[in-house]
Amino acid sequence: MVREARGFFLLGEVGLWLDKFSRGGDWRRCVQLDVSVHLRRLRGLRSPAGLRMLGKGMVLGLFHSVGAMTWDYLIVGAGFAGAVLAERLASQSGASCLVIDRRDHIGGNAHDAYDAHGVLLHSYGPHYFRTNSDRIVDYLSQFTEWRRVDYKILSWARGRFWQFPINLNTYEQWIGREATSEEMELAMASWRVPIDHPKNSEEVMISQVGVELYEMFFKNYTRKQWRRDASELDASVCGRIPVRLNRDDRYLSEKFQALPKDGYTAMFRKMLAHRKIEVRLKTDYRQAREEIRHRHLIYTGAIDAYFEECYGALPYRSLRFERETFEQEFFQPALQVNYPNDHEFTRIVELKHATGQRLPVTTIVREYPEDFSPGREAYYPIPAPESRALYERYAARAAAETGTTFVGRLASYRYYNMDQVVGMALAEFSRLAGRLVLD
Ligand code: FAD
Ligand code: UDP
Repeated sequence: MVREARGFFLLGEVGLWLDKFSRGGDWRRCVQLDVSVHLRRLRGLRSPAGLRMLGKGMVLGLFHSVGAMTWDYLIVGAGFAGAVLAERLASQSGASCLVIDRRDHIGGNAHDAYDAHGVLLHSYGPHYFRTNSDRIVDYLSQFTEWRRVDYKILSWARGRFWQFPINLNTYEQWIGREATSEEMELAMASWRVPIDHPKNSEEVMISQVGVELYEMFFKNYTRKQWRRDASELDASVCGRIPVRLNRDDRYLSEKFQALPKDGYTAMFRKMLAHRKIEVRLKTDYRQAREEIRHRHLIYTGAIDAYFEECYGALPYRSLRFERETFEQEFFQPALQVNYPNDHEFTRIVELKHATGQRLPVTTIVREYPEDFSPGREAYYPIPAPESRALYERYAARAAAETGTTFVGRLASYRYYNMDQVVGMALAEFSRLAGRLVLD
């Protein structure tokens, strides 16, 4: 009996070996490691009972091999890119999707959670959802209701709060009296530095607001955030901040500005709740890639990490978040206060202003820019000419990679907002839809 049990155990191993072999994984290594051991063991199983066991073991092994799950899609990353694609592929194409993430939660950088005091916080910096696309709102509205928010922020400079982004109210604060849009336009026209085609973030701002306002609001904030001058960054970085001649003092200009009513994480939970989707957290692609059988890979992590930085590491900026809780209803007069010239942090965010939570306590988050190094989170790709050139080399390799789709902020090395990533993932779904890629 003992002998039989031992034989069965060994044959099970043979089966598993066959299974491993048939996965088309790193078979050479399997053979080197296993074959000699198994052959030695099999020689000891020449009795009729042993042969019966051998047969059973083979059948079991083959059964295991055939029965083991082959996912239609292995999706690396449970952020917007990964979750949208999993949801679409599962619900619209009936595809089985395994979503893995190395973090212990879903939602990627948009993840939110309640702190110990019951305050809802965005775990990786403030995430203000906004979009001009009805299609994207309609899509996400399947998984959440919304709380409309006008994101209002202030800038702290020269010892006082300023309305920000620059608008007619800011201009009035600047000149110390009431004014009209026409007056503001005349003043701005005299301050603007004429540049026809601004090539970088410094040029884009001085051509819009002149040197003095640029230096007060943008120059040092940008240096702190990116550890490089605005002149070394693409025009789009500072160019995304609006400048207005009216009294619209919202930070953002898109027509739809709102937060998921119950938070981002709750929305992601619904997106991923489909029976054809399985989520495995604390699972790094680098470890999982050989074990998980799949027909097609969707990769939303950093593109240089995927290719093991073969052309050199792409530059990123990282952040450190420092939380503090106060036994008072609010800490500061607005959702966000920017500190362009003071302190080492760039901004303090008090999300309670936007979520509308009614609590006697409040939690603020100070955001400190940090250099990126292995072990830290790569939060921001750096929009600059030389990093784009390096990215293009990776992109060319990605284009030649059959069986893998690269999508999302880090995989495409773009300073994308959430709605842009949702749009990108929906477009990618249209490309993948209708065909289960078998390469
Ligand atoms: P991510 O959300 O980064 O998700 C990628 C996931 O892949 C991560 O969870 C990561 O853990 C996982 N992953 C990576 N590599 C591996 C691996 N090897 N194995 C397993 N898992 C892996 N957008 C806005 O619209 N409004 C805002 O106000 C806003 N504020 C922001 C503030 C900050 C501080 C930051 C950093 C970003 C902000 N964004 C904002 C941008 C927004 O976070 C992104 O557009 C969006 O989260 C991108 O989604 P994604 O799925 O591409 O990437
Ligand atoms: N910026 C600045 N001063 C500010 C706010 C923004 O100079 O008070 C610049 C800075 O370079 C920043 C960029 O504009 O990185 C984009 O700002 P945004 O608030 O959109 O940054 P994010 O929320 O993506 O970090």
